[in-house]
Amino acid sequence: MTAAPELPGYAHTYSGKVRDLYAPLDDSGQPRQDQVLLVASDRISAYDFILSTPIPDKGKVLTQLSLWWFEQLSSLVPNQIVSTDVPDAVAGRAVLVERLDMVPVECVARAYLTGGGLSEYEADGTVSGLDLPAGLVDGSKFDEPLFTPSTKAPFGEHDQPMPYADVVAEVGADRAAELRDLTVRILARGNEVAAPRGILIADTKVEFGVRADGTIVLADEVLTPDSSRFWRAADWQPGHRQASYDKQFVRDWLTSEASGWDRTSGEQPPALPDDVVEQTRAKYVEAYEALTRETFRA
Ligand code: ATP
Ligand code: MG
Repeated sequence: MTAAPELPGYAHTYSGKVRDLYAPLDDSGQPRQDQVLLVASDRISAYDFILSTPIPDKGKVLTQLSLWWFEQLSSLVPNQIVSTDVPDAVAGRAVLVERLDMVPVECVARAYLTGGGLSEYEADGTVSGLDLPAGLVDGSKFDEPLFTPSTKAPFGEHDQPMPYADVVAEVGADRAAELRDLTVRILARGNEVAAPRGILIADTKVEFGVRADGTIVLADEVLTPDSSRFWRAADWQPGHRQASYDKQFVRDWLTSEASGWDRTSGEQPPALPDDVVEQTRAKYVEAYEALTRETFRA
């Protein structure tokens, strides 16, 4: 596992599954309250575990891809970015952002039916409390993306679907509607941009924060393979599980016979073999290059 690096001029404040957060120190050596250095490590998580094997360059890919998307989405929603001028030790994988009051909701939108949404639909014909027509299958496209929020679970626990009424109770009706509309529009715009580049974004999770003046701002990462399900448009065929383009690949290996890991055991998953690491790295780079039409440079 990759530990959070020491960065002169910054105080380490928090580490999530993938990101290490720092507060820049001011002239008197005190941590600033208004900014965060968001450093994406090469850690990869699956099934709520941080795997012991890092994926080389993954943090750079996520950071660069998010920066590209923030730009693509800038007419839709303000974003957290302050500067990409960061210490050399974390060059390419870090951004300086506004420190926001994070909204305690994982804002998920789904453009296609699969994964957890499919399980809900198969159980009772709804997804996140929304009634859906009969006859949908794995990979069916919705007319409009659905807002299917979930709770922000503590580390090691699974995020749970969050009924819209609970979002309203948490943040108020106006704010809930704003979160829903922004999330859906981000995924819809994402798909407009990605489609001609050969990628479908089946679903995505975004996080929002609030500025002191109340403005909602897009935070964290956006439309990356960690936060979204990417499918190859050319291979899309509803009726069965779509070929994986993203982290699904690692999940598939972990749950295959080859890993020898039992998902229900509660035990830390095994180290990834070199070929899985290499292929996973290649997936991240491929997604970056297909979307941005730029060559990835580590
Ligand atoms: P958790 O924080 O629950 O471990 P995670 O594993 O997804 O979730 P990471 O992506 O590794 O977390 O870390 C990013 C953390 O930084 C998240 O807690 C996220 O909410 C927070 N964050 C992202 N952007 C901002 C911001 N602009 N201001 C404050 N906090 C932010
Ligand atoms: Mg995260």
